[in-house]
Amino acid sequence: MTARLDCAAARASIHAALDVPGMGLDARTRAHVAGCAACRELADGLAELTAALAGVAPLAFPEDDLAAVWRRTIDAAHAARPAVRRRSALVLRAAAFLAFAALGAWAVVTATREPEPGPAELARAASDLETVLRLAGRALDRGREVAVDDAVRRPFAYIPIRPERRP
Ligand SMILES: [Zn+2]
Repeated sequence: MTARLDCAAARASIHAALDVPGMGLDARTRAHVAGCAACRELADGLAELTAALAGVAPLAFPEDDLAAVWRRTIDAAHAARPAVRRRSALVLRAAAFLAFAALGAWAVVTATREPEPGPAELARAASDLETVLRLAGRALDRGREVAVDDAVRRPFAYIPIRPERRP
């Protein structure tokens, strides 16, 4: 095994250990890091960065910013497209947002299954889930409007209702 390969394996192990909170380096990697200045620098730097990030309080995505993103994406696309394509595009977007929300919820559930997540990880996961749920809520509201419009209002617009003529 060459020294270069050892470094590559050690670095992979250092990165993998960071993915699991509280896991730490295994004995083989610790031994490599003790004797390799470059890998020690990487491990120390990443540990310092991880500790600094864990100390940052999660920020809630501000409602105004969420609304601005919505206006610039969903509403802008809505205004720019012809009416018929607009509807299917909106439904597809709503479905995409719901898929995104489901994926986000799954990611949070998976993340919380890791051994002993710290309060910072839990707070961040809760904050991310809150943002995902707010986006999903908007998508559901919009999807409901489109569904009601398609199922109720539009069909009646095509039914030729004329007043009966009575003798
Ligand atoms: Zn090394």
